This record gives sequence, structure tokens and C-alpha cells, in this order.
Amino acid sequence: MNENILIVDADADIRDSMKAFLEKSGYHALISSSAEEALQLLKTTQVHVVITNAALPDQNGLELTDLLKQNYDIDVIVMTGYSGNYSYEEVINKGASDLVFKPVRFEELSLRLKRVIKERQLNKERVQMLGKLEKLAITDGLTKLYNLRHFYNQLEIEIDRCNRYSHSLALLLLDIDHFKIFNDTYGHLEGDKVLVRLGQIIKSCLRTMDSAYRYGGEEFTIILPETTGEEANNVANRLKTAVELECFLPEPGKIYTITISIGVTQFHNDEEVSEFILRADKAMYKSKATGRNRISSLYA
Ligand code: GH3
Ligand code: MG
Ligand code: MG
Repeated sequence: MNENILIVDADADIRDSMKAFLEKSGYHALISSSAEEALQLLKTTQVHVVITNAALPDQNGLELTDLLKQNYDIDVIVMTGYSGNYSYEEVINKGASDLVFKPVRFEELSLRLKRVIKERQLNKERVQMLGKLEKLAITDGLTKLYNLRHFYNQLEIEIDRCNRYSHSLALLLLDIDHFKIFNDTYGHLEGDKVLVRLGQIIKSCLRTMDSAYRYGGEEFTIILPETTGEEANNVANRLKTAVELECFLPEPGKIYTITISIGVTQFHNDEEVSEFILRADKAMYKSKATGRNRISSLYA
């Protein structure tokens, strides 16, 4: 057990005997005689669970609970007398994890503490799992760029911002040239490696506020907030060059390079999302139609 437990009680006998008991049980126990002292200690020391008397010399234990829950990732167990003014419900509603009545039986406290720590651990795992699921839901499995669903969500958000604050917003759409030939010659697995590497190259060419998405099979899109078409062209140029310079080895001794065709466009206030995307698509097809491995801009 490596949890830090802080006991807050004005009564030195209770504090010290409880500390001795908890340390014997394997916890690392700390003590404070008032809410103020506890809050000072928390500025420098990480604490996982606070066991506080409901009645403290400078602050009511429930107010302290409230404060702790709002500012720290801490579980609180409140100790109160039978004749105390607080009901179980009141204490739990303030965010405490449990309530024990005084005089406190240490064996009982130990069981309650174990349960609180167990729940704390389960909660942490649940939050981590949720975070992973959320990430999974917006990530393309192969390239680890964002997926199409996230693209539409983010584009709506950026367009909304753009309409409200009259910021500029640009969009790039890119597609690998003659990728079918590569796949047909070297196989789908080698093709997948190209897509993964292209995802990395795209990421490396972006500025922190830009975001990249796998739009479809071998098509990618990039949202560039607060960016004019001209600035987006610079990003596109960087990207085109970086892709051209990359060497692939689909077979021993066989060096292969790829090229991409890029379409660039800029958002017009109050236009439909579909119009915006369609313009980027048309620009990209213009690059295809005019010889590939190039950038075309379409602003109107
Ligand atoms: P263009 O220059 O006109 O874009 O030619 P292209 O061959 O790239 O275009 P086309 O649309 O004819 O073919 C796209 C190819 O991309 C088909 C398929 O072999 C490949 N592709 C699409 N998705 C994936 C994928 O997830 N993995 C792999 N390995 N290949 C894919
Ligand atoms: Mg293609
Ligand atoms: Mg395509």
C-alpha cells in the first residue's frame, strides 16, 4: 500500500493513535490539527485519502470536504459523533466517500478505508478506459490520424468559430497518385505501410493548431484554423516536398517514391460545409487532371 492518508483532528490523542494504527496497517499516515494546516500540507504533499473530524477548530469538516473535492483528487472520510449534526446523506452529498461515528473503532475504519481505496482504484481504471475508448472512437486504426467522423465534428466546430469571429479557415485534401499500381505490384500490406508512413509525414509537416484526418482509402484531409489559402499553400508545398523525398523499400533493393495531388481551399463565411469540402475536392481533382504531383487552389 502506498497511499498517503491525512488525518485531520484537533485531538492529539486521536490523531496520534490513528496514525500509529494506519502505519502499522501499511499506510503512510500524515497528521494535521486544523483545516488550515491540512490545506498548507496539501500544497506540497500528495494525499490520496483524508480522514477528517466533522468538527475542526477553524472550519467545519464538511466545508473542508467541499474544498478538497473541488480542488484535489482526494477521497474524504468524515468522522462525527453520534450526536453530531450531520446525516450520512448530507456528508455523502458534500462529496465525502464515507462517514464513521466516534468513538472510531480502528478495525472498522480500516475496512472502510480499504473499500474507499478499492473504489478509488476502480474509478481510476474506469476513467482511463473511457479515455482510451474516446480516443479509439476518433482515431483511424491504420494511420493513427483522426478518422472521418472526427473530421466532420471538428470541421463543424471550426466553421462555427470562423462564422462567429470572422477568422480565416483553410482546408487541404490530398490523394496518393497512382496508388493502385503500387498495391497491385507490391501487395496491400506494403501499401498499408506507405499509408502509415504518409500519416507520420503529414503530422510532421503540420503546425500545432492544424489537424490531419484519413478521409478515405488513400485520401487525407487537413483542417488549418486561422489560416488563409495562401498560408495553406505553404503547408501544402512543405508536405508535397516531404512526400517526394521519402523512399520506400517494398522489395529488397527496390526503392520506390510516391507523389501526392493536393487541393487547397479557404472557407467563405456562411457557406455550407458540403460546399467547402466539395471545393477542396475539386481543387484536388484539378491537380490530378493537370498532371498529378502538384497543388491546386480554388478559392471561389
Ligand atoms: P490516382 O492518381 O488517380 O489517385 O490513382 P490511384 O491509383 O491512386 O486511384 P484509384 O482510386 O484508382 O485507386 C486507389 C487505390 O488505393 C485502390 C487501392 O489499391 C488503394 N487503397 C485504398 N485504400 C487502401 C488501404 O486501406 N490500404 C491499401 N494498401 N491500399 C488502399
Ligand atoms: Mg489515388
Ligand atoms: Mg483516391
